[in-house]
Amino acid sequence: MELWYTEEHTENVRFSLRVKEHLFSGESEFQKLDILDTYEYGKLMTLDGLVMVTEKDEFVYHDMIVHIPMAVNPDIKNVLVIGGGDGGTVRELMKYPQIVHVDMVEIDKLVVDAARKYFPGVSCELDNPRVTVLYEDGIKFIQGKENVYDLILIDSTDPIGPGEGLFTTEFYHNCYQALTEKGILINQNETPVYESFFEVGISSNKKLKKMFPIVQVYQANIPTYPGGYWLFNFASKEFHPIHDLKEKEWNQANIKTKYYNTELHKGCFALPNHVKEKIEDG
Ligand code: SAM
Repeated sequence: MELWYTEEHTENVRFSLRVKEHLFSGESEFQKLDILDTYEYGKLMTLDGLVMVTEKDEFVYHDMIVHIPMAVNPDIKNVLVIGGGDGGTVRELMKYPQIVHVDMVEIDKLVVDAARKYFPGVSCELDNPRVTVLYEDGIKFIQGKENVYDLILIDSTDPIGPGEGLFTTEFYHNCYQALTEKGILINQNETPVYESFFEVGISSNKKLKKMFPIVQVYQANIPTYPGGYWLFNFASKEFHPIHDLKEKEWNQANIKTKYYNTELHKGCFALPNHVKEKIEDG
């Protein structure tokens, strides 16, 4: 009998992958986690029935959350990752020798344990001595921190369950305070394809714009996320994501990436009209 994983993207849309084997199922106090081996996308991790990572397309998300800010400010030394328990964001950050330290604050140890076991190619840098993994709620962790991080990456789940508080004005304000004067914040900003997701994205963009002088949305194609098309916010105290791109410097550093390059960097901020209009009207 054929086995299929099916995720409900909206009431009227479902996304399915044919499965070879259901490798693991577990539940923490925060969420339900499953690992499936699929035919087309390799191993897949889901939280509460939603795709987090697949072996085949994880590189798109992780490249885009990390290399965009790193190519804009090569002097980034201290980084905070909120969420990110699969380790992919940390793996990309570790390609930069100038990064002195990364704090990864992941609420759920089960995610990290499962990533270590089933996704060694993604979680491979979590034991790097430049990385501290903290099992805490990012919302609490950030409170009261001032002028500590050059870069904050919010590698979170959607605003349901433990991820809900990672989309609030108060949380963004705390992040702003925790950033150094040239600080950059990136968060995943949902898909514009389906209204319920896009409303969250527009609202997050709007909240960030009230705080940061520079906020720009950029995009990437991520086949296994709803709509196959995902947005990110680039929010910064000083740097413009395109005018301040250090193209030559980044290329000379010879960092190996599968998705990101500096041509794509310039292009990914060019949004289609229907997205641009909604973000601008936001
Ligand atoms: N790239 C994925 C996506 O967009 O679907 C998300 C990656 S997944 C590793 C996100 C992680 O955020 C999960 O492991 C989850 O446990 C963690 N998380 C959710 N809420 C959190 C919170 N309040 N503090 C810290 N981590 C949180």
